Amino acid sequence: MVDGGIVGSQIQHVAGVRQVIANACENNPLAASGGVTVLGASKSQPAAMIEAMVAAGVMDFGENRVQEAEAKWPILKKKYPEIRLHLIGSLQSNKAADAVALFDVIQTVDRVKVADVLAAEMARQGKVLPCYVQVNIGGEAQKAGVGVPEAPALIAHCRALGLVLEGLMCVPPLGHHPAPYFALLAKIAKSAGVSGLSMGMSDDYETAVRMGATCVRLGRVLFGERAV
Ligand SMILES: *Cc1c(COP(=O)(O)O)cnc(C)c1O
Repeated sequence: MVDGGIVGSQIQHVAGVRQVIANACENNPLAASGGVTVLGASKSQPAAMIEAMVAAGVMDFGENRVQEAEAKWPILKKKYPEIRLHLIGSLQSNKAADAVALFDVIQTVDRVKVADVLAAEMARQGKVLPCYVQVNIGGEAQKAGVGVPEAPALIAHCRALGLVLEGLMCVPPLGHHPAPYFALLAKIAKSAGVSGLSMGMSDDYETAVRMGATCVRLGRVLFGERAV
């Protein structure tokens, strides 16, 4: 059973987010014409919270770690087969087989090795998972993602492998205004002919939608503050 009290507040959170997105799209030529996917970033959230979010109408979820996802998602996916589960954290190549088996979308293709291993695993398992190339849009040493100058070559490599490239993904640097970074991601996508833009988190999703995001990845604003 899904707790009615939790569902009530989740419905309010989701409605609030959808209103912000609708306002950001209104009379805005840069906004995504095909709508914006609200992805629940469900790291550290228990199954009951996720089920409340499903009841509130969220159908896309993102997990950062393959192992954590394996512990909670097989049952949830069986129960709600229409959910799309996205990997939004770094993928180690030795986890690629497990990731391809469990996830529906991989948003964190950030180097040639990962692209190669994913393509081989999809062929072996007979699955086609849409992918995003993750770009280290602020060029930060500690952050995952392919460098901006190297992004076009990695995109070309993914295409040559036959990967289905759904879009580009980024996490802009903390403490900077995110708009220039979102604009840069949109520019790279446009010149490479990639349509999806996974950008925007709880603190900056309104800006991201204004700049053309097709997918916003939301944790705190949907689920409430994380305990950890
Ligand atoms: C946790 C996480 C999010 C969501 O973060 P919030 O600030 O809680 O909205 C989005 N993207 C990635 C890659 C994350 O790890």
